[in-house]
Amino acid sequence: MSNANRRKHRCPHCAAVFRWPAELLYHDAFHHSERRLNVCPEADCGRNFQFPYQLAIHQRTAGHHNWRVSCTACGKRFACERFLGRHTAASCEQYRLDYINGQRANGNEAHG
Ligand SMILES: [Zn+2]
Ligand SMILES: [Zn+2]
Ligand SMILES: [Zn+2]
Repeated sequence: MSNANRRKHRCPHCAAVFRWPAELLYHDAFHHSERRLNVCPEADCGRNFQFPYQLAIHQRTAGHHNWRVSCTACGKRFACERFLGRHTAASCEQYRLDYINGQRANGNEAHG
């Protein structure tokens, strides 16, 4: 069991162990330094997250992204024109369906 630990990345400041160097980097910045690596760009928010995926989830759920490009048909937002170019008619349709379903699920619990 002893050589199983050899490849892990151990935090020099605490007992935390990580599989990937990037995880240790984010852990170190978040817990042991003032570095803010994953800050929400929304001016009124500015929350800092440990991992990029946490920021991505927050941006998606809170709508806190600075994406200016959007599809005129479905309203989905993209980080840049290039991503909008890859937005197919099928995914546009799917996004609109998801949006409508989401609206129904959230706003209309009682039905008869
Ligand atoms: Zn640590
Ligand atoms: Zn935010
Ligand atoms: Zn669209």
